[in-house]
Amino acid sequence: MVGQVQPDAAPGRMLLRLVRLATGSARRLFVVYAAVSLIPILVLGMALLNVLNTQGNDRGITQARRDANLIARASIAPMLGGHDLRSGLTPAEQSALRRNVGMSVRDGQVLRLRLRDLDGTVVFSEDGSKGAPDGEALEAARGDVVSSLKWLNDDRGDQGPRGPRVVEVYEPLNAAQTGTRIGVLELYLPYASIAADIARGQRTISIALGAGLFTLWLVLLLVSEAVADLLRHQSNVNARLAREDALTGLPNRARFTEQVTRATASATLQRPTAVGVIDLDRFKQINDTLGHHTGDRLLVMLSERLTSHVGKSIVVARLGGDEFGIVVPEVRGAIEARELFVELRKVLAEPLEIDGLPLSVEASIGFALAPQDGTDVGSLMQHADVAMYLAKQQHLGVLAYRPEQDQYDSSALRLLAELGEAITSEQLVLHYQPKFDLISGKVTSVEALVRWQHPTRGLLYPDSFVPAAEQTELIEPLTWWVLRRATLALQVIDPGGTLGIAVNISAHSLSRPDFADEVLAVLAETGTDPKRVIIEVTETFLLVDPPRAARTLIRLHEAGVRTSIDDFGAGQTSLGYLAMLPISELKIDKSFVTSMLTDRRNAAIVRSVIDLGHSLGFSVTAEGVETTGVLDHLRALQCDTAQGFLMAKPVPVAQLRQWLSARSMPALSPAVT
Ligand code: C2E
Ligand code: CA
Ligand code: CA
Repeated sequence: MVGQVQPDAAPGRMLLRLVRLATGSARRLFVVYAAVSLIPILVLGMALLNVLNTQGNDRGITQARRDANLIARASIAPMLGGHDLRSGLTPAEQSALRRNVGMSVRDGQVLRLRLRDLDGTVVFSEDGSKGAPDGEALEAARGDVVSSLKWLNDDRGDQGPRGPRVVEVYEPLNAAQTGTRIGVLELYLPYASIAADIARGQRTISIALGAGLFTLWLVLLLVSEAVADLLRHQSNVNARLAREDALTGLPNRARFTEQVTRATASATLQRPTAVGVIDLDRFKQINDTLGHHTGDRLLVMLSERLTSHVGKSIVVARLGGDEFGIVVPEVRGAIEARELFVELRKVLAEPLEIDGLPLSVEASIGFALAPQDGTDVGSLMQHADVAMYLAKQQHLGVLAYRPEQDQYDSSALRLLAELGEAITSEQLVLHYQPKFDLISGKVTSVEALVRWQHPTRGLLYPDSFVPAAEQTELIEPLTWWVLRRATLALQVIDPGGTLGIAVNISAHSLSRPDFADEVLAVLAETGTDPKRVIIEVTETFLLVDPPRAARTLIRLHEAGVRTSIDDFGAGQTSLGYLAMLPISELKIDKSFVTSMLTDRRNAAIVRSVIDLGHSLGFSVTAEGVETTGVLDHLRALQCDTAQGFLMAKPVPVAQLRQWLSARSMPALSPAVT
């Protein structure tokens, strides 16, 4: 069965796996993968740090602009008289500025301070530096604050060596009293303290960022490992499925073919390899009546039986549907192979239970030997198939392939292929065989028996095509054709009378869920009184799905249709179960009746069936009565009705009518021939 994909979900287990991976054989690949996947993470980290840095600088500049604005408004402007600086500074203003600015510079709050007039010319500088009018100063003179991150003395016109990092701000300077623009304040604030401040904040963020990215990397590794693991698992499952039957887990046909090839390579005439094909009988019926779910469970159970019964050297495969294949290497010959397959067939037939329902499965097995019957897979499988088909058709159980079967098989297959056409083109005919009351000698009913008037092969008896048809859907049109034709014939054989008509119904047709209703519909259509109709069913039908069989028989019984259990004694119906069903007749299998005078065991069986039937309230019919000795004996045993060549053979409808009208009562002879 297909297993559920179960990836290791727990991260702990995944981590362990990673560690194992990193130390195991896949280490190199894993290390490469880990390293490669680290690159985008590092790039991302660097980009984020860069953004962080830029943001820090921006914050530093903003802070510096705020400081510059404060200094301009709170410190510088109040020291000035409020006149346009183009007219120069008064000595009082000069000294006030020098005093205050000198203090700030000494404190290290300001690195350089200049005042410029609205033309950009320096009118005051605390260090006496001059500096030419520049674009930034003129922009500030127009009212914009201009700021940037610089090195001290980096501007054009600056003298002296390059100094520390600074924030340079050009701040428009307004008169404290009137607010009119009078000049520009040029300030150089130290960047170091701002940078330290920013760095402190950034460090925490960087650590968090680093830890976050590392975790992300680790999670990515875990996820990709988990996905890889899942894919590996899935591809293993797929590889297995391609060679395995999904339902039973057995090797499939493709795998089986490989196994056959391998096992036959070393096979010798003394130690051949046996290739067997097992096909379940009536599996389709089980599927149809009990549902596919039950069919599937049955297949699983049977495949378990097969595998647990055979040793390791024997391969069991499911070839499809209800067909299994077996390869047995090095058998001692056909006899040993047959024994093994007979044994397997027994194992399959052991009763089993599904949902409380007792089931028993019969199988047909054909086998071929390599190299005797073929050396290549194709011919071996084909030969095993032919033998299996014959085993099924002739109810032989296990059959070894023989070359002459090919001829037989192909003709049987051809016959089956023609049957569909035969039904529609009226090549089938019914013969009727009377059943007699053993006390009155009267004919109570006639049994319809199908024949095939084949255009080239002549009259074919049902044994040559009904069992094969029962393995296919063809049995359906056959059943309905017989029922319709037989009930119509009844109106010719005994119009308006009481004579019954018995029709054989294959278990396959009977198992249809609506069988009873379909029968009643045909009877209504042909204008037949249901009380005149007897359906003959075999025990196998009762065994496949007892509850459904009971429902069908009850429905038919309620409508007046009688049921006869055909070939009784050959099966193994439980008596308790039989007693519960609305059955009217047991029909003793002719294999017991015909030889009852020469075989004491058969005589005992006939006697017991009669007793059993009577004690359950059923009428008992003996079929296959060929001698007066048997007839007398049956009468002595108080058997109710009899049927056989002694009294009447199956004949076409016209002959039957003649015989019935010419017949003098109550003698049981002459026979219809
Ligand atoms: P069955 O239902 O057991 O039919 C009785 C078979 O025994 C018939 O063979 C009949 O000709 C034969 N028989 C009758 N009296 C004697 C006798 O005294 N001695 C011997 N040795 N045989 C006797 P038949 O007609 O060849 O039919 C064989 C089987 O084919 C039937 O066995 C039945 O199972 C099946 N069959 C016949 N007609 C139909 C049909 O319309 N539908 C289905 N599903 N099966 C049919
Ligand atoms: Ca019958
Ligand atoms: Ca019979």
